[in-house]
Amino acid sequence: MYCPSCGELLVRKPGGRCPSCSAQVAAHVVAERDRETRIEKVVAVVATALVLGMSVFTVGSGLIEGIAVYAGAGALVFYLARKTFAP
Ligand SMILES: [Zn+2]
Repeated sequence: MYCPSCGELLVRKPGGRCPSCSAQVAAHVVAERDRETRIEKVVAVVATALVLGMSVFTVGSGLIEGIAVYAGAGALVFYLARKTFAP
């Protein structure tokens, strides 16, 4: 986090002031912390959405593959049955 007044890296904030230029940085520190909390929340929501989307996609492709296998097996059985019972 950097001082909004002089751009100094704020490692220590004695009395909520910048040690370099003595500007009030307490409010800036709180605002920055709130912003970081919001970013973390957004990242958590996006990550959750991605995980849910991935699982839905995996289930969907599994279903389609299941239908394809079912249809393929059905066609094979139909083909074999026709061949077996053909005159
Ligand atoms: Zn400063």
